[in-house]
Amino acid sequence: MPTRHDIRNVAIVAHVDHGKTTLVDAMLKQAGAFAAHQQVDDRVMDSNDLEREKGITILAKNTAVKYHPADGGDPVTINIIDTPGHADFGGEVERGLSMVDAVVLLVDASEGPLPQTRFVLRKALQAKLPVILCINKTDRPDARIDEVVNETYDLFLDLDATEEQIEFPIVYACARDGIASLNKPEDGTVPADSDNLQPFFSTLLDTVPAPEYDASAPLQAHVTNLDADNFLGRIALLRVEQGELKKGQTVAWIKRDGSISNVRITELLMTEALTRKPAEVAGPGDICAVAGIPDIMIGETLADPENPIALPLITVDEPAISMT
Ligand code: GDP
Repeated sequence: MPTRHDIRNVAIVAHVDHGKTTLVDAMLKQAGAFAAHQQVDDRVMDSNDLEREKGITILAKNTAVKYHPADGGDPVTINIIDTPGHADFGGEVERGLSMVDAVVLLVDASEGPLPQTRFVLRKALQAKLPVILCINKTDRPDARIDEVVNETYDLFLDLDATEEQIEFPIVYACARDGIASLNKPEDGTVPADSDNLQPFFSTLLDTVPAPEYDASAPLQAHVTNLDADNFLGRIALLRVEQGELKKGQTVAWIKRDGSISNVRITELLMTEALTRKPAEVAGPGDICAVAGIPDIMIGETLADPENPIALPLITVDEPAISMT
């Protein structure tokens, strides 16, 4: 099967405060993007008033890190999907996981796995996703890395992980300093054999499967989440599974009840770092957003009008929220 070697789609899942935001910031920083969320907002807004006027620049539910491999290989776009750690968010966790091909399980080196770690890991294992364990905050004076790794193995066993899932790679990190290593540091220290996140990026590239697709298949793109924008109205977040979604194109919108309407893609957006930017085309494996379909719902499919084939509906175990 043809493969999009230039894309990896991954979710970082963690108990609150274990360092997800800090890690994503460090990834953006190393990939040459901007330092912190607030700064990104300010800079993008200030630098492009037209975009601000049109309301296109909105904080994304996904972050795209463009990584240039150290060996000089082609750049890879790592799409990081945000998934809430809380059970309250119900279907949002499943929906986030339906967009990705692996998860990074981030665990605090002192606190170990906590209830939200368990909740999201269970969902990830049920979705049959490979896992990368990242032990964060190895610098904490009260770090107890060996115990925390063992507790995580116990959790996998308890949640009936498959043998493959339990053979997860382990990365040790101090996200605060943007440092990761495959070698276990001493408790209470930052990894000593690395001064950046390179080992983490390499593990991502090796472990997260690159999206595969059928080159002869007609367009199929799956609506996995919704967002709202003052100017553009309802925005559907999609993962393109097969074919290409193009700006201006007319596509078949296959609704939850099976009925089909033809609609035009008036706005196609793709994420760069933390902001959505107008795009011309999204291919297989890409995560994108479209505006201009006011009543579109989660789980629905955008397809080829000549050959409309629906993707499976995603279970939504919470009431559909009305957004304008
Ligand atoms: P999130 O809730 O998972 O997004 O967690 P944050 O990224 O907001 O981090 C929670 C707290 O942990 C913040 O005060 C961070 O500064 C701190 N933190 C993150 N990474 C590290 C680390 O590697 N070492 C230490 N000591 N603190 C960290």
